[in-house]
Amino acid sequence: MIEPLIRPTRRRLLRGLAGAGLVTAAAPFVSRGRAAQARSAGDPFSLGVASGAPRADGFVLWTRLAPEPLSSDPRTPGGMSGGDVTVGYEIAADSAMHDIVRRGEAVAEQAFAYSVHADIRGLQPGRPYWYRFTGADAASRIGRAATLPAPGAAVDRLRFGFASCANYEHGYFSAYRHLTDENPEFVLFLGDYIYEYIEQRRPTVRRHSDGIEAATLPTYRNRYAQYRLDPDLQRLHAEVPALVTWDDHEVQNDYAGKWSETFDDPEIFLLRRAAAYRAFYEHMPVRPILSRPDGPRMRVYDRFTFGDLVEISMLDGRQYRSREACYAPPNKGGTHLETNATCPERLDAGRSMLGFAQEAWLHNGLARSQAQWNLIAQDVLMAQYRLKFNEQEGFSTDSWDGYPANRARLLQYIHERKVRNAVVAGGDTHSYFANDLRLDFSNEASPVVATEFVGTSISSAGPPYEPIARALPDNPHVHFFESRRRGYVAVDLERANMQVRMRVVSDATDPKADISTLRTFAVEGGRPGVVAA
Ligand code: FE
Ligand code: CA
Repeated sequence: MIEPLIRPTRRRLLRGLAGAGLVTAAAPFVSRGRAAQARSAGDPFSLGVASGAPRADGFVLWTRLAPEPLSSDPRTPGGMSGGDVTVGYEIAADSAMHDIVRRGEAVAEQAFAYSVHADIRGLQPGRPYWYRFTGADAASRIGRAATLPAPGAAVDRLRFGFASCANYEHGYFSAYRHLTDENPEFVLFLGDYIYEYIEQRRPTVRRHSDGIEAATLPTYRNRYAQYRLDPDLQRLHAEVPALVTWDDHEVQNDYAGKWSETFDDPEIFLLRRAAAYRAFYEHMPVRPILSRPDGPRMRVYDRFTFGDLVEISMLDGRQYRSREACYAPPNKGGTHLETNATCPERLDAGRSMLGFAQEAWLHNGLARSQAQWNLIAQDVLMAQYRLKFNEQEGFSTDSWDGYPANRARLLQYIHERKVRNAVVAGGDTHSYFANDLRLDFSNEASPVVATEFVGTSISSAGPPYEPIARALPDNPHVHFFESRRRGYVAVDLERANMQVRMRVVSDATDPKADISTLRTFAVEGGRPGVVAA
């Protein structure tokens, strides 16, 4: 066990905790380089704490030192200056932090905006732990983490949630608050965790603080800091371990690989992507070795196994994409509707949403999985959706409909290898969907090989209901669609049954909104497809 350089006294810890966000940071942190210190008297742990990337013997604990979280000076991110900083951490077996099982130290790296990614190993499997960070006469709030069950261990039930699309300007994060209150064992963030742009057309309830579209490292950092100051999101991270992937708005609307929606030079756009990925890393509880960004490259796809019950493949649906089909003016670079006649390129088998390396990784993982359920957690709608919209008709080029050959390869693989109980979770559409995933969506006799649930947005405004709902008869594999409500998905998983509750807030523009269940669906073990619960 490593002793921390700063071993806070009980008095200091209590004072820090009693300060409730008002602790002073006058004393310097222990610095590895030049004397680093908080430049003002703000709480260095203002952005809270998070745990994620669980393993059977550990997890990643995250914080970021930011006494001035929305500091606009790019030379002093979060109001910090100087070299790397060492902080202490404590891990306990109980929520009151009486039974401390580990004390250690971790580095808040100057190069990564003084974020901490403490990769903890050597703990007991399948149980919760509590933790806090200490330093500079202050202590963070207490967070809850959890290890995965031992490989193959019998697990009878699991509750988790999934969430996507939290536009800060469009609403409050009441959905995050109610998700926390359900005490899930973990939460999946499926993308659009932040929004890079500034809303110009729709009503807003609060504004992105800097008033400019994020496109540089300081502006992306500012966005994450502002979102993490939201009390509902901050509490969700403190109380519920997170598994994370991204969608487009962590970088730019509808980007694909190195191709921007705005037809930028790909080499220039990759500089923007590098800044965005770096800021994502700095604010998420992801593995420091696997996920540390390398310029515009960052690995976020990963796999998590909960004993014998479920294996979760978290996918990256953006970084490795082929260019969107028919990427040229007068189309937008991103979403447009195309038919086979208007855009035969869409059908090209040489195109991939996941990239061929990630496709192989996914297929191999599904083939080897011993779990009763196999959850494929990713960013966008997988089912085909034939649409007629504003005189246009066809398929979206930005969802899996833009990459039908990749979708067919995956569904064919699940079918041939008899992958057990494959369920897809997604976001991006700001709508609820419950779908049967058929080998051939245009043939109602084609076998259903997997089940899909798409969660609506936490707060982002939904697309117009009528034109999409009108197309439901053209999409008989879609059991349910609703774009007018905001919320999250709660899943109760048992060996024989998956129950999916579509949870909705009363009003996303009300910070005190209450919660209810819009619809409940189920999947029965051994029988792919949506059933009414
Ligand atoms: Fe979104
Ligand atoms: Ca999106």
